[in-house]
Amino acid sequence: MACKSCGSTNESTFVAEANIHFSFSQPKNLDKPGVLVFPTLTICLDCGFTHCTLPERDLCLLREGRAA
Ligand SMILES: [Zn+2]
Repeated sequence: MACKSCGSTNESTFVAEANIHFSFSQPKNLDKPGVLVFPTLTICLDCGFTHCTLPERDLCLLREGRAA
């Protein structure tokens, strides 16, 4: 697959960890803990454009946290 930014095919896939916080613009979120997720990153090694995909397990955690 080619990079969506520069068209290069010099992309590689990595696994990362990130702590996602719910928006602090809503007072109800101020006390919510962050959600630790493990996205798969596809990074263009020529321009740095990065595409991020979260596994279903992580999406469920975000949905549950948003609804709480
Ligand atoms: Zn690129």
